[in-house]
Amino acid sequence: MIYLDYQATTPVAPEVAAAMQPWIAEKFANPHSPSRWGREAAAAIEVARKQVVQAIGLSGGRLAFTGSATEALNWAIKGAMEKAPEGRNRIVTVATEHAAVLDACEWLEGRGYDVVRLPVGPRGLIDPDDVKAAVDERTALVAAMLVNNEIGVIQAVAEIARLAHDAGALMLCDAVQGLGRVDLPEGPDLVAVSAHKIHGPKAIGALWMRDGIEPAPLIHGGGQEMGIRSGTLSPALCVGFGAAAKLASERRSTDHAHVERLWDSATGELGPGWTINGSTDRRYHGNLNLRREGLDAARLISDLRDLAFSLGSACASGSGRPSHVLRAIGLSDREARSSVRLGFGRYTTEEELVSAVRRIDAAARAQQGLAA
Ligand code: PLP
Repeated sequence: MIYLDYQATTPVAPEVAAAMQPWIAEKFANPHSPSRWGREAAAAIEVARKQVVQAIGLSGGRLAFTGSATEALNWAIKGAMEKAPEGRNRIVTVATEHAAVLDACEWLEGRGYDVVRLPVGPRGLIDPDDVKAAVDERTALVAAMLVNNEIGVIQAVAEIARLAHDAGALMLCDAVQGLGRVDLPEGPDLVAVSAHKIHGPKAIGALWMRDGIEPAPLIHGGGQEMGIRSGTLSPALCVGFGAAAKLASERRSTDHAHVERLWDSATGELGPGWTINGSTDRRYHGNLNLRREGLDAARLISDLRDLAFSLGSACASGSGRPSHVLRAIGLSDREARSSVRLGFGRYTTEEELVSAVRRIDAAARAQQGLAA
């Protein structure tokens, strides 16, 4: 099995599994209890919190752990709109955001909020002039991601944040695919991240909040996490997230160099007939989204069962609908259905990737009745 689906999730790093182990097996205390065991667990969570904050890399602020980035994004959007000043009921977002953002906005739209979804150009990039035109004194929040999960393109987060602030609005950045890989510039007021995209465990995310900014709680209860995100924290998951974040920071330049090499090898191996979806320069190079005229991508994936790669995105794959991101960059339904996404990173070897690309190329040609 060759695993090429790093945008869906990443393999858990051995260092992360080792750091989590004692907190799964022996150390079962409730981190919110005042016992010595409880305080030990709480202290481990505070170390993890600092590690995640460091990997995010923004100055000041505080961070609350959540059950996923999906929760963090829902919390940021619904909680910021709940607290929006009188007269500001507009959210500006982007057509290529993750479903966690788009569906939360749609839910609010059904409750009377005004939602503006900005288009992107053929390279998948937001035009700052579109942001400028949409953001005004009625806007409370601008939500834009750092790295797109389907096509890997990197948005101009600093500029978008500046335009939001100029109009008195807050800026939320979904940094899930960028954490530990792509610099997050200063500017966002709220940042959502997830552990399982950086070789950490699943079912833990976090919301970073700039000092003085606090969305209304989404989850009410025992008052954990500074009173704004209730629910008993899992020390194992928090420690795992912290260890993954620390590792990502330490290995940042090694991982980056490795991914650049992998990208060069993969793109160098492609035969004629393939087009890369999305910008190739303003992009995280661990994402290679490819299309080929007339290809039945779903059939290609089922023909190559020992390669794990995907259609546009994990979520879009399940629904059977063509990816909303590929449609937003101007592809037809047919072109979107002729696209596959290869995601690779820290644990992918060059040999694996080259052999997978050769097999994908050969299988695509065979499907189209072309000679190998
Ligand atoms: N945002 C982006 C860009 C993602 O890729 C994902 C994961 O698919 C999420 C948000 C949701 O993250 P989680 O799986 O932690 O809910």
